[in-house]
Amino acid sequence: MKRAYQINQLKKSNSGTPWDFIIIGGGATGLGIAVDAASRGYKTVLLEQADFAKATSSRSTKLVHGGVRYLQKGDVALVREALRERGYLNRNAPHLVKNQRFIIGNYKWWEKPFYTIGLTLYDILAGRMGLGHSLPMSKKEVIRHIPKIEQNKLKGGVSYQDGQFDDSRLAINLMQTAISYGATVVNYAKVSKLTKNDQGKITGVIVDNLIEGDSIELTGNCIVNATGIFVDDIIKMDNPEGKPMVRPSQGVHVVVDKSFLGGDDAIMIPKTSDGRVMFGVPWHNRVILGTTDTPVKDFVLEPKAREEEVDFILETAGRYLSKKPQRKDVLCVFAGLRPLAAPQKHAEEAKTKEISRSHKLLASDSGLITITGGKWTTYRIMAEETIDLAIKTKKLPFKPCITRNLKIHGYQKNPDRNNHLYIYGSDQTEITSLQKKNESYAKKLHKNLDFTLAEVVWAVQKEMACTVDDVLARRVRALYMDAKASIEMAPIVASIMAKELQKDNNWENEQVKEYTQIANEYFLS
Ligand SMILES: Cc1cc2nc3c(=O)[nH]c(=O)nc-3n(C[C@H](O)[C@H](O)[C@H](O)COP(=O)(O)OP(=O)(O)OC[C@H]3O[C@@H](n4cnc5c(N)ncnc54)[C@H](O)[C@@H]3O)c2cc1C
Repeated sequence: MKRAYQINQLKKSNSGTPWDFIIIGGGATGLGIAVDAASRGYKTVLLEQADFAKATSSRSTKLVHGGVRYLQKGDVALVREALRERGYLNRNAPHLVKNQRFIIGNYKWWEKPFYTIGLTLYDILAGRMGLGHSLPMSKKEVIRHIPKIEQNKLKGGVSYQDGQFDDSRLAINLMQTAISYGATVVNYAKVSKLTKNDQGKITGVIVDNLIEGDSIELTGNCIVNATGIFVDDIIKMDNPEGKPMVRPSQGVHVVVDKSFLGGDDAIMIPKTSDGRVMFGVPWHNRVILGTTDTPVKDFVLEPKAREEEVDFILETAGRYLSKKPQRKDVLCVFAGLRPLAAPQKHAEEAKTKEISRSHKLLASDSGLITITGGKWTTYRIMAEETIDLAIKTKKLPFKPCITRNLKIHGYQKNPDRNNHLYIYGSDQTEITSLQKKNESYAKKLHKNLDFTLAEVVWAVQKEMACTVDDVLARRVRALYMDAKASIEMAPIVASIMAKELQKDNNWENEQVKEYTQIANEYFLS
């Protein structure tokens, strides 16, 4: 799992046979494709310009869901597909995915029958992959489950079951799964150019090694562009006239203390003042409130929440909760950019093939395969379709997809969720033994959070963490749980990492400075 080893594999590959698959982008989509390709037996490499899940894939609402919202819109096929995928993910990564009860409070007489019927259809669409039945509830029951729900005019409610997960932890586990099937996977490796032959067909990529500063040329049979909101940059490398595929839409969440819901159940607000749904979901002893949907023009790795988005979330949550969250209660605010597919006519104009409505999958004349859109929940089927399309267009020898039943790294049934280390699944025992070998590793990194020194060591040794941000934002989720506390943790994390990575004092100081700059944008002043 060491990055240096993975980089060596890249360099060695120059003298070997070309890669079957070169995948650009290490978010949910690219990592899913790497797992699919490697587990089918193809020679696979994945290149990520920053850290795994640094972009959209660490900034989701953390739901593994069919999308009740799409059901409201009558998009039954999309919901059925996502519910099936929810079932597979729940089965293959039980250490990370949990069955979560959601409650819709009803304030008008017609809401209970209306949502009971809609959510029963949701259950039916899930079929045998269902997580439990939707049920109408009395006012008393609703209050028992969500003690801090707004009780004024509350008439009752409806409950339903969906999945809830940890997004960047799943990304790390997918990276480990791909490597365990023989893939080479590298972070801080940016594709800066596509190479082509005389016929204009893509033959490989130039990759910039952003840590050591050199560049490497790789040759491959099939190049996959899975770069989320950045797909158009790669499309432009292929064809400067290429039409844009993506329009980013920003979604903001705020994180507050668990006491704002008062229990373990999530709340779903089916219609906000701008006609969307909003959630309040318990997550690692906190509550995530969100999200918004704001069209933006910036294609950036660190999007910033707008004041009006934060105000909207706090104001909407305040209407449905008796304890009204205020700005001072916000432990973290984070923004993510949805890679929404641009209008279909662009795809047609580019003479490419559209496979699915939920995500966009296209093969260009020069052989670049681009996939974007969709959601975390459907990453597996998106990967399967991508590899199937590549096999067809590139005439690769067919090998069947095995990911429906493929256990994801860390697989462990019924983890003990009272121990915060449960998130590591089957790796938990190894972290515990690190703590036993070196007692200081059992110490907490911060008095407000459970994370220990051992987890930093583990993140560097086994999860390819290269920066303080990699550790605090995406290996342990300190940034998302308490941004201010995470800044206080940065010096000790930097010092442990410096020892592990053999870096000097300058590196340590720079890391603390860089992390502080990032994390300063995650709380409200
Ligand atoms: C606010 C919000 C809430 C959401 N909530 C949910 C939810 O609850 N459940 C759900 O199922 N889905 C949810 N989603 C959707 C889900 O998060 C996304 O569909 C998914 O994360 C997209 O993954 P991706 O890999 O396509 O993109 P990304 O995660 O953005 O990954 C693309 C990667 O490509 C890399 N890259 C770009 N250019 C290059 C290059 N030149 N070389 C190398 N690498 C490059 C980037 O650094 C990035 O890491 C949500 C999305 C948002 C925005």
